[in-house]
Parts: sequence; C-alpha cells; structure tokens
Amino acid sequence: MDYDVVVAGASVSGLLCAREIAKRGNSVLIVEEDSEIGTPEHCGGMISISALEELGIVPNRVTLDNQIESAEIFSPSGKSFVINSELQKVAVINRRSFDKQIARQAQRNGADIRVKTSVKKIIGDKIITTDGDFKCKIIVDGRGVSSLIHRDRNGILHSAQFEVYADWIESGKVEVYFDAEMYPGFFCWIIPIGSGHGKVGVAARAINAASALEKFLLKKGRHFIVRKIFAPIWIKGPINNFVTKNIVTIGDAAGQTKPTTAGGIYSCGVGGILAGRAISQFLESKDDSDLGNYQNNWQKKFGKEFNSMLLARKLLERLDNKAIDSIFDSVTPKIIEDISRSESFDFHTDAVIKLLGAKSSIKVAQTILGSELRKLFALVERN
Ligand SMILES: Cc1cc2nc3c(=O)[nH]c(=O)nc-3n(C[C@H](O)[C@H](O)[C@H](O)COP(=O)(O)OP(=O)(O)OC[C@H]3O[C@@H](n4cnc5c(N)ncnc54)[C@H](O)[C@@H]3O)c2cc1C
Repeated sequence: MDYDVVVAGASVSGLLCAREIAKRGNSVLIVEEDSEIGTPEHCGGMISISALEELGIVPNRVTLDNQIESAEIFSPSGKSFVINSELQKVAVINRRSFDKQIARQAQRNGADIRVKTSVKKIIGDKIITTDGDFKCKIIVDGRGVSSLIHRDRNGILHSAQFEVYADWIESGKVEVYFDAEMYPGFFCWIIPIGSGHGKVGVAARAINAASALEKFLLKKGRHFIVRKIFAPIWIKGPINNFVTKNIVTIGDAAGQTKPTTAGGIYSCGVGGILAGRAISQFLESKDDSDLGNYQNNWQKKFGKEFNSMLLARKLLERLDNKAIDSIFDSVTPKIIEDISRSESFDFHTDAVIKLLGAKSSIKVAQTILGSELRKLFALVERN
C-alpha cells in the first residue's frame, strides 16, 4: 500500500509528527516494533506543564501521575541542598498512557497505526517491514537511540530504571545523587510517582548501571521492585543532518535529547511537530527548502541551549568527587533562592551557570577546564 509518509517508531516524536501530517490531509502510516504503544516505558516521565501545553496535550487523570514541588541534590559525601521547583510546574506523567493519548490524536486526524511491525530496511522510497512493504514519498525515522548506536558509541550511556515501592520515597520530591566513582558522567535519580512509590534510576559511562542501582537501593533501605527497564541514552546532542534525501530523522534518533539530563519528551516532541509541519509543506510545494525548515526551526529554538548543555556536560564528565563536593560547599542560600525563582524547567543551563558561578566553584571548574568554562559563560550571556 502507498502512503505520503511512513513513520518508523510510535513514541512521542513519531506520533506527534504523524498527528501533524494527518491533520493537514496527508496519508500517513506509523509502524511500531513493540506490541503496545507506550510499553515498555523507557522514561522517568518528568515534563513541565508548559511543555505539555506546547505539545498540544492536556494530560488526563490516567496520564498525570504526580506533581513535583522540590528537588534535593546530593554530593558524593552526602551534602545536599533543596531547590523549590513549584514555579517550574513540573509533572510526572505515565508514558504508557501519555503515548496512547497522542496515538489517539493522530488516529483521529486520520493516521494509520500498526504495532508489532518492525522496520527492517529502507530502499529508496520503499520501507520493508515485518508486516509487508510500503511505498511512500517521505520516510520518518523516529526509532529512538537504536538509530544512533552505529554512529558514535561514545555518545551513549547505559541506564537502568526500576519502579519501586519504598517508604523512603517522598511524594513531590525528586532526588538527584552525584558521585563520579559510582555514576561516572551522569547521576542517580528518584522520581516520585506518589508517596512510597517512584522510579529510581542510574545512568553512567562504562559501568554496569543495573548493579550500581541495586547497590544504591540496598543503601537506601527496604524496597520492593515492581518493574525493571534498561535503555541506552544519548548525550552528544543533535546529529548534523536531520534530513537526508527522502529520510527525515526526529526525536532521540536525531539526538534531540538534553545532553545534561537526557530529558527528551519536550525537545523530541517539538522535533516531531516541526518535522510534521515541514513535511506537510513539502508535500504541497515539492520544494526541498520546506523540508530544510524543520532543522532550522528546531535549531532556532534549542540550538543555543543544547550547545550550553554540551559544555556543561563536558565539565561534569571531568569533575572528580572532591571537585563536586567543593562546588556543593560554595552553594549559598542566595544561589538556591535564585534557582528556585527560575521558571524554566526546559531551558535549565541558567541554573547550572548559577551553581558554577559561585566563587569557589569557579576556581574548581577553571582549574579543570578553564577555556570551556569561559565559552559556557559567554554563550549564556549572549542568550
Ligand atoms: C531511563 C530513562 C528515563 C528518562 N526520563 C525522562 C524524563 O523524566 N523526562 C524526559 O523528558 N525524558 C526522559 N527520558 C528521555 C525520553 O524518554 C526520550 O527522549 C523520548 O521518549 C524520545 O522519544 P522518541 O519518540 O524520539 O523515541 P523513543 O521514545 O526512544 O521511541 C522510539 C520508538 O521506536 C520504536 N522502534 C525502534 N526500532 C524500530 C523499528 N525498527 N521499527 C519500528 N519501530 C521501532 C521503539 O519501539 C520505540 O517505540 C528518559 C529516557 C530514559 C532511557
């Protein structure tokens, strides 16, 4: 069967892309290799309410799990500070029902969806799947990090996230643990779904994420694991070309995930929407520059912030535990108050700068990577 567009991958970016394409009267098929949309849930589900609005999704009772009021950040030696995040209005959503909610929007607009259908090969305008071959004008690659694995193994960290019942999980409070020896290059997190119930995860470079997470859980105390997921995350920022001939790459597959936290529901979702609109315009005009607008528009929105995040990530990767601890020592109540007053969860390098802007942090950071730090400050000043 022929379609204007076939989208590979029915997650947030692919579904939003298809929703936009179908809304403009084009025929679109979404193929998903898993047997259920939204499952397995490879996600912590944290997203700001303003981002949800921008993606055009009003979360329903089943989709919205929790609302976050604060975040406690821990250093390797156990020092911590608490940021009030009420102004940022951050929600925890259930990706299993959230993705289905977008699928319903896409289907209502006229998109076709096939689950348990894996894309095997793309040959010109033909897409070969486990459920037959399809011809189309544009192929959208929304297959997530699996599309990036062959590109650069250095850009990939391994993560493990367990859904846990435990009395020590506080509803409304996210916890983040830095430790360059236990979680090199990343961190450990607790995202509460409710009181005594949450998603606890670890990502890091060159370690076994699952055993690091098990050690963390043992240290925290009594707990009960009800679900385990393991997934790669991409931390190297956007790929060079989002569009190559008739293939348009979106979401995680295009590296549209935050290099600092690997959060991507918002930036990947926007990627899907911008791609969907550009593809629709191209189908009408047959003008290649309309397709090119997708990458330009995404870069206009996220380019500077992602560049700053990449520099912040370079810094994080080089800090040892002593350096992390001294940054914590230099965090004053005024800095915490400033960060708490920031309203943006989605563009957060400003908060990182505030932390690094503390006097002794600068000293620590400058000895580690003076020139990159200067670039980071310069970039943020220009924004
Ligand atoms: C542990 C973890 C926690 C996270 N927590 C957060 C968070 O709290 N907040 C946040 O904003 N982001 C978070 N993220 C990131 C977020 O989940 C992703 O950025 C987002 O889901 C990307 O969406 P996507 O549509 O680009 O790709 P994905 O969600 O990766 O989906 C790709 C889809 O393609 C399908 N697929 C793959 N290969 C094929 C094939 N050959 N044929 C057909 N289908 C295929 C897959 O089955 C999948 O459904 C987290 C990620 C991880 C791993």
